[in-house]
Amino acid sequence: MRPHLPPLTSPSGPALAPSRARPRPLRLALSALGFSGLALLGSSLAQAQPAAEQPLANLPYTPSLDRASMDPSADPCEDFYQYVCGGWIAKNPVPADQARWSVYAKMAVENQRYLWGILERMAAAPAAERTADQARMGDYFAACMDEGAAERAGLGALQPLLGRIAGLSSLRELPALLAELQLVHYNERLFFSYSSGQDLGDSSQLIAFAMAGGISLPDRDYYLKQDAKSQQLRQQFSAHIARIFELAGDSPEAARSAAAEVLAMETALARATLSRVDKRDPYKTFHKFSERRLQALTPSFNWADYRAALGVPASKADSNVTEPAFFKAFERLLKTRSLAQIKTYLRWQTLSSQAPYLGASMVQANFDFFGQTLNGVPQLKPRWKRCVELVDAQLGEALGQEFVARNFAPELKAQTLRMTEQIEKAMAQRIQSLDWMGPETRQRALAKLHTIVNKVGYPDAWRDYGALRVQRDDFLGNVQRGNAFEARRQLAKIGKPLDRGEWGMTPQTVNAYYNAQMNDINFPAGVLQPPLFDTRMDDAPNYGNTGGTIGHELIHGFDDEGRQFDAQGNLKAWWTRKDGRAFEQRAACVAEQYAQYTIVDDIKINSRLTLGEDLADLGGMVLALAAWREQIATQKLQPIDGLTPEQRFFIGFGQWACDNGRPEALRVQALTNPHSPGRYRINGVAVNMPEFAQAFACKPGQKMVKEDSKRCRIW
Ligand SMILES: [Zn+2]
Repeated sequence: MRPHLPPLTSPSGPALAPSRARPRPLRLALSALGFSGLALLGSSLAQAQPAAEQPLANLPYTPSLDRASMDPSADPCEDFYQYVCGGWIAKNPVPADQARWSVYAKMAVENQRYLWGILERMAAAPAAERTADQARMGDYFAACMDEGAAERAGLGALQPLLGRIAGLSSLRELPALLAELQLVHYNERLFFSYSSGQDLGDSSQLIAFAMAGGISLPDRDYYLKQDAKSQQLRQQFSAHIARIFELAGDSPEAARSAAAEVLAMETALARATLSRVDKRDPYKTFHKFSERRLQALTPSFNWADYRAALGVPASKADSNVTEPAFFKAFERLLKTRSLAQIKTYLRWQTLSSQAPYLGASMVQANFDFFGQTLNGVPQLKPRWKRCVELVDAQLGEALGQEFVARNFAPELKAQTLRMTEQIEKAMAQRIQSLDWMGPETRQRALAKLHTIVNKVGYPDAWRDYGALRVQRDDFLGNVQRGNAFEARRQLAKIGKPLDRGEWGMTPQTVNAYYNAQMNDINFPAGVLQPPLFDTRMDDAPNYGNTGGTIGHELIHGFDDEGRQFDAQGNLKAWWTRKDGRAFEQRAACVAEQYAQYTIVDDIKINSRLTLGEDLADLGGMVLALAAWREQIATQKLQPIDGLTPEQRFFIGFGQWACDNGRPEALRVQALTNPHSPGRYRINGVAVNMPEFAQAFACKPGQKMVKEDSKRCRIW
């Protein structure tokens, strides 16, 4: 969907799910969740009680067109975003435990508070009254909430892992140790990540993916940029590493020199990593390597040992080495660094990744840097919120069953599917009438459109958590077993055919996504709620808001990245050269427009990073408008509250994106987020739509009106 959160990398590489909010949902690195202070979702500290266990529909209702969120003193033709969201922005400062705040984030926190109530009940219920999954969730949540136990366990809980690292006696033992550590961390911070993904050349098959990783900061550019702010942040980062080593028992001098070694190693890895813009090019991250070629890439690292330790059977199938140059750098590192330095690096990544689940001093130190210094967040999230996020991340489909049982009416699914069909029909008409697309490409585009699978609400088959052991007195152990469970679940797919029914988001997620390799669009139940989708409202704001979202996800199949995948989800050049060039020319208009927008201070949008999202925003609204017009074709609509139907359509559109962000977080966003800030996701679309200028009677020369010849138009 639409809010802007830091992207999470996915095991299937570039083709997976550029969604509106959480573009790459599958690989949830827990260190990126609330426990590290990198707030993904929001909260209100004022309300310290769980919501009663009642359907969300019973909570105070905010309509999908909310006059109180508007700023009637603003001129829609000068700054439409201020006009639709000015009231919201003034009344919704970023909460103390959040980096950013938005309509979506607020809904997500309401969902969390609701799930909190459910989890407290499960934690307290007698054993006989709980199903196996309810017991798992209740015990997991209870263990997580037991702050005293985490404090008493202290660093001791981590000793087995730290002991294994200390015991590393030769490079030959590294593959087995790395496999063991990666399983319980389940993130990409230990040199690289290794998982399964759809073969970009044959989407029906899952193959092994070896992907770049190994750094702790949110982007490689943090290590490479030489401006004063970047240099200062690296100094603060180095001081943070030293602080963590000191908390783990090192002397200040030893901690400082260890921090310098870690920073040097992470910098070497960052230097060999592709930029985020390059990672959006699927051809740059698709390199099939045979077993022998992969082994030749890293003579110092034995892949057979590594896979054996992971429990992955030997296979004749090739692996996708997404960034071969990175693995060459990994080899250089193994060759040039001492064993002691490698152990220091592994110790840092382990301490840092696990810090959120330890005692208060480690939790706080971790938050002070990743939350406060990096994102400007003043306060750590309350524990309940961090614990709900963990259950969501590790037992999300079990929690999802509880959520949809209470919050998802079948009519909602039918209505959403109907709107989706109207939008697909609008897209078919657009494709058929484009003057820049030839018949060959047109025919294949229609074939791709008609192959898209629409998933609404929740998966048909729920995940089986039977193999995941949860203990009520072992918080850290639960997190580590949860990570290993998910890591193994992904690894087990290598060499298997694709499961087309799988979802990349949990049902309670306030977001949506398109997956180019699955060629499906997915709308979790969590996003089909007011104030986004509002069955009590007239069609106009609903088509502007949720219709725009459906159109957005659909257009991802035809944005600069998604268009490179065919109807079967394979990376294949199905456009004629001429039509491809015509598309690129039109997309460049959007890239040039967004490159002018400022995010914070002197930082502009990196519009080559946001291009796919910006294209989806614009195309999505064109489709939503066409679908709405069809929906109301036979109706005689009158103004409501002094707003014409067309105005209500565009206000409904604008109000999904109301947001606020801390300056520090906006800086992080500028480097990492493929979505533009809310203001430009609204104004940047509106200026390209003559129907908008017409709806508000805007005149040439006003800020929200582009000259006809300068308007960007693709679909
Ligand atoms: Zn998107």
